[in-house]
Amino acid sequence: MSERAPEFRVGSVLATSFTGTLTERCGTPVERIPTPARLADWLSEMGLAVDACSPADLAAATDLREAIHVAATAQALGRPHPRDAVDVINAASARGGAAAALTRDGHRRWLLGRPPTVVAALGVVATDAIEILSGVRPGVLALCASPTCRAAFLDTSRGRTRRWCEMNTCGNHEKKARLKSRHG
Ligand SMILES: [Zn+2]
Repeated sequence: MSERAPEFRVGSVLATSFTGTLTERCGTPVERIPTPARLADWLSEMGLAVDACSPADLAAATDLREAIHVAATAQALGRPHPRDAVDVINAASARGGAAAALTRDGHRRWLLGRPPTVVAALGVVATDAIEILSGVRPGVLALCASPTCRAAFLDTSRGRTRRWCEMNTCGNHEKKARLKSRHG
């Protein structure tokens, strides 16, 4: 669709992949869902394909994304979740209405209604956020060690020692910077 829009970074956790559609938050931010079409592309990539995506859908999505980011950051810092963020996440979850379905080959699919709507898709994302923020799923929320990133991620490593939101982006930047300072 929009060819020159920045590509997506897709991790294994839906909710933090969603907050990761805005990267380098503490540096020069990169918006990866700048248009309704790109939000539709992202949802489709996450198995949440919708029929249509409006500017209002995009606004609701970015509200939810930022609420998840704020709540995840608070949690990683050991602070209570801000009330506004909790309200936005809970409202998106309650509005959702998607149904989980089991496929015959043993996978989970989300049924987003007919037609499949962004509201239903965001409900799935909000539910995923509630799972990681409430500790229902194993792992702890942590913040990326990159000073320009500081993205929240779910650390499921055995000793909870993961430092980067993604090894092949932030981890590598850091490694390159270290090598450069050693040789430069
Ligand atoms: Zn990072």
